[in-house]
Amino acid sequence: MGIGEATGMCLGYAVFLDREPSDSRDIVLLHELRHVYQFEGTDGLASFIRIYLEQLSEYGYLMPWEVDARDSASLCIRA
Ligand SMILES: [Zn+2]
Repeated sequence: MGIGEATGMCLGYAVFLDREPSDSRDIVLLHELRHVYQFEGTDGLASFIRIYLEQLSEYGYLMPWEVDARDSASLCIRA
């Protein structure tokens, strides 16, 4: 990926993962798939990006969508 500390990224239905294998790859994929679910609840990619950036600006990485994606991925791993 090469984008800061990010090991994954979602842009609509496109999910990008770091090429390097890691023990956390499954949880990163689950996290990004939750962002796909969030994307599906918006009016499209521009809307998704706008909402994401608004939340990021207001809350930082404790933003609702990131908290939801982390919680969702954690629940899936424990299931
Ligand atoms: Zn995320």
